[in-house]
Amino acid sequence: MRRGMEDPAGFRHALLAWYADRRRDLPWRHTSDPYAILVAEVLLQQTRVETGEAYYRRLLERFPSVESLADAQEEEVLRVWEGLGYYRRARHLHRAAQEIVAKHEGRVPRDPEVLESLPGVGPYTAGAVASIAYGVPVPAVDGNVTRVVSRLYAVEEDVTRTTTQRRIRRKAADLVPAQDPGAFNQALMDLGAQVCLPRRPRCAACPVTSWCEARSRGVEGSLPRTPRRKEVPTVAAAFALVEREGRILLVRREADDLLGGLWALPGGELRPDEVPEQGLRRLVREQCGAAVRAEAPVGSHRHTFSHRRWAARAFRCRLVDKSDAGKGRWVPREELADLPLVPFHRDFLDRSADPSLDDFA
Ligand code: SF4
Repeated sequence: MRRGMEDPAGFRHALLAWYADRRRDLPWRHTSDPYAILVAEVLLQQTRVETGEAYYRRLLERFPSVESLADAQEEEVLRVWEGLGYYRRARHLHRAAQEIVAKHEGRVPRDPEVLESLPGVGPYTAGAVASIAYGVPVPAVDGNVTRVVSRLYAVEEDVTRTTTQRRIRRKAADLVPAQDPGAFNQALMDLGAQVCLPRRPRCAACPVTSWCEARSRGVEGSLPRTPRRKEVPTVAAAFALVEREGRILLVRREADDLLGGLWALPGGELRPDEVPEQGLRRLVREQCGAAVRAEAPVGSHRHTFSHRRWAARAFRCRLVDKSDAGKGRWVPREELADLPLVPFHRDFLDRSADPSLDDFA
């Protein structure tokens, strides 16, 4: 028989007992430093835990305090972040550190509302930092928690709608205990990650099955409800590898562009009617003021963003008409390691430097 949530004490007890036994051993669970917890939570916004662990260690090794992060150049932060994607998060975290130093005396704020005023910090991150680092009894509703709560209460509405998200947040807030809310929030997240799985929830192994409305109605497999995913369009893109006396022509991608803030080979999306050779002539002229001619393919790569996919190709190109590429930057090959580069461009460059790989296309 299903137990009600009117008095959630039994539910919390069952969940926390399970968590004490089965919690995931993650590096940010061994610290009470609010800065380290903020770094972890920003990292995990769109990253799998397994991938996030390595980057968490790298970031804290390179920037062990909020002051060291605030003092860093944006390029240094992006270099450590390189390969993780969603580069806006890195730039936001950097600016958040600067605000913490400038406005909050170097202390990560405790109040969730103040936390939310920092760049890149939304309700989830604010709730996670406030509850885990400071013991503030507020919910931290990420994708895992949304799924668990929507099933516990058999929420039938589309969970991507703002009204449904508010409802789920209210439900989650009712469940959070005054005592150790951080452990409770992490227990809900772990339940979502290990037991209440997206496609096949493992209800037989679930510690809170007696409180689950979706399970009691047999609808757990069809929740949470989300709209059908739209097809991600594939767009052709081309990039120019121009080398002169051991230096590579690079441009810095605009902050608002895809892969914004990173250094890149000049190029980008082709127009529907363009072949790569034409598109490269146009793009390199626009971005660097140089005239180039594409000569040989260097490599290809498919890169998926949240809303589109690039079918990207790179071509070794030659400057024509003694063009000087005044708007680009010529970077010696040996200095590429210090710059935050579009990761698949780094692959193109590495391969182009390896004479044993002459068939790249
Ligand atoms: Fe999820 Fe099943 Fe547990 Fe309900 S009983 S919370 S659906 S795993």
